[in-house]
Amino acid sequence: MGVSDRWWISRAVICLLIIPRINGWGKDGHYVICKIAENYLTEDALAAVKALLPDHAEGDLADVCSWPDEVRRNPHYRWSSPLHYVDTPDFRCNYQYSRDCHDSAGRKHRCVTGAIYNYTAQIMPVPHKSHLSVVKYNLTEALMFLSHFIGDVHQPLHVGFTGDEGGNTIVVRWYRRKTNLHHVWDNMIIESALKTFYNSDLTTMIQSIQRNITEAFVELSTQKNCKGAVCPNPYASESVNLACKFAYRNATPGTTLGDDYFLSRLPVVEDRLAQAGVRLAALLNSIFSVHKSIAEE
Ligand SMILES: [Zn+2]
Repeated sequence: MGVSDRWWISRAVICLLIIPRINGWGKDGHYVICKIAENYLTEDALAAVKALLPDHAEGDLADVCSWPDEVRRNPHYRWSSPLHYVDTPDFRCNYQYSRDCHDSAGRKHRCVTGAIYNYTAQIMPVPHKSHLSVVKYNLTEALMFLSHFIGDVHQPLHVGFTGDEGGNTIVVRWYRRKTNLHHVWDNMIIESALKTFYNSDLTTMIQSIQRNITEAFVELSTQKNCKGAVCPNPYASESVNLACKFAYRNATPGTTLGDDYFLSRLPVVEDRLAQAGVRLAALLNSIFSVHKSIAEE
């Protein structure tokens, strides 16, 4: 193998290790979140969601919850790339909207929490002028972005440190496989759980997570201490907290992560998927009950 071959291979490996920043939770994670959400939608919200979904979704929100990840490398949607996460100052373990919500060029509100505010506002009708918001925005895309970003803000390393790009530059081994810490949290924990506990069947995993969602869990998760329809900031604060307590802990560069890490972090991942699901449902229920009351006026 020539020097240039080796150079290309090493570049390709570096790209493979870095590319996962492109994803949120992996496809499975977003699917789980939206499937859980569907179970908690009111009849009105479910009808409104179905009416907005693209035809190819065949009435299933979960089917299009990864759409923003699929398009973010497309030149038409490259602007949406910084909206999947928010980076916080290294090792502070806290998040502040005014300090942290910007893209790498410093443009304010261009981060995952800013995007959640933005898309909620797009879907939320202005009283007596709801036809204007329909004209101004693509509500189908707004719904798909919103459902996806509520998922992303619950992935602890989507609210990680700036210096390591939310764990993307922390190269680790997941059992024998070389990967990075961000990818472990997007995909590998879920993938290993599927194989180890759920017979490689996502539906079984979803059912198991759902069995653990009690009324008290829903109530606690959807409690609001914010003004307005949506409050993504506490979700981001929870995420960076979990990033410090669980994701970054014992996962320095070069570490091999195995059973200890997997078994202690899986409950955190399943908890976040469940929270994201019930919170997404609560948000869509509140958006579409507003729609209904305006329509009835
Ligand atoms: Zn994403």
